[in-house]
Amino acid sequence: MKQRKILLNESEIPDKWYNITADMPNKPLPPLHPGTLQPIGPEALAPLFPMELIKQEVTTDKWVDIPDEVRNIYSLWRPTPMYRAYGLEKALDTPAKIYYKYEGVSPSGSHKPNTAVPQAYYSKQEGIKTITTETGAGQWGSALAFACNHFNINCEVYMVKLSYEHKPYRKTMMNTWGAKVFPSPSDATEIGKKILAENPDTTGSLGIAISEAIERAASDEHTKYALGSVLNHVKLHQTIVGQEALKQMEKAGDLPDIVIAPFGGGSNFAGLAFPFLRLNFEEGKNIRCIASEPSSCPKLTRGEFRYDFGDTGGMTPLLPMYTLGHNFVPAPIHAGGLRYHGAGVIVSQLLRDKFIEAVAHDNLEVFEAGVIFAKAEGIIPAPEATHGIATVIEEAKKCKEEGVSKTILFNLCGHGNFDMKAYEDYFAGNIQKHELTEAEIKASLAQLNTPTI
Ligand SMILES: *Cc1c(COP(=O)(O)O)cnc(C)c1O
Repeated sequence: MKQRKILLNESEIPDKWYNITADMPNKPLPPLHPGTLQPIGPEALAPLFPMELIKQEVTTDKWVDIPDEVRNIYSLWRPTPMYRAYGLEKALDTPAKIYYKYEGVSPSGSHKPNTAVPQAYYSKQEGIKTITTETGAGQWGSALAFACNHFNINCEVYMVKLSYEHKPYRKTMMNTWGAKVFPSPSDATEIGKKILAENPDTTGSLGIAISEAIERAASDEHTKYALGSVLNHVKLHQTIVGQEALKQMEKAGDLPDIVIAPFGGGSNFAGLAFPFLRLNFEEGKNIRCIASEPSSCPKLTRGEFRYDFGDTGGMTPLLPMYTLGHNFVPAPIHAGGLRYHGAGVIVSQLLRDKFIEAVAHDNLEVFEAGVIFAKAEGIIPAPEATHGIATVIEEAKKCKEEGVSKTILFNLCGHGNFDMKAYEDYFAGNIQKHELTEAEIKASLAQLNTPTI
């Protein structure tokens, strides 16, 4: 029998997270205060985040210890399996060797609990009573609801209205772990009320939901805010994925030539890719790392590298990142987790310095890829994950055309078992190709009066 699964023991769960900024030749530029345009220090984040996470946000240490209690909870589902995708290789008739790391085995079905658990843990340590957050597809909200429940913390989730309507079972899942869920924009916040007054039919966006959750956290000292992507500490926590994957590749006697992951704010991409980029930095390896984004929200491939707000309401510090503009509201595609206007600061700097690559795929192409994968490998991928799969298929086809065998590793960062509405729409022919015009992107960026770089 061919070996399909590459597994690790619980004792092999990594005990440190990897901080890539320690190895980057150009460090990310500092966040700026939106009023003074001066760099802000960590203390400016204190009203919103627990102190330990703020420290991790700015640390220059290369390795950060994972608390035992966090590893202990990780062991509910970690180490996650890695698979050799023999079925997909055969379906594509490619000489490429394809592997995937499967994060869909977590309680909420994606990579998100990797950071939700430590965020809830540090919050508990600091006596925080309530955590607010936003969720797009519902993946982050469910992960945080799971983690808060474990530590007996209240969890309040602002869920993008489009997803709230498309994915009612995600809401029920959050409720099961004890969280309160609001469709965003909601009338529970000032910014929500304002946006509803201007545009009552809006389907919402992650940027709007973030503003709502931040507003709630800023107005109460025992309430803090948690973010499931974009920030440095989130990416740090996700490096558990790539470190396990590195051990698993070693077990398989292989090393990837190409590492691929879908891209929303950058956390699952960072999680898988950074530990492999470490080999590029430390050992001069040449592993290509490719981020896959939707062509209807193409900040990496068509956005501008400049300072912008992380949220629509303009409440966050200004961050140096690839962005489509914080007022950008993407088309209502099903991959809710990828509908975010900006990219995380570290990933943006890495792209700017050409240490990583980015590609975009249209809405139809990704569902085709998802169905090819589901038929070949069994697991039905989350609509976000299908973007990475589309890139895998493209690279595997190139291998076939060129007659070379490359090793490809990708992040199957979540299953799509709650996304049947999306697949149903695809099968019914209701998913259209959607490409943004240059004029639409220019118009969104033209609204910015934040500093250019
Ligand atoms: C949240 C999510 C994403 C997008 O966020 P990243 O921070 O870019 O990883 C992608 N896939 C799944 C399954 C998600 O839950």
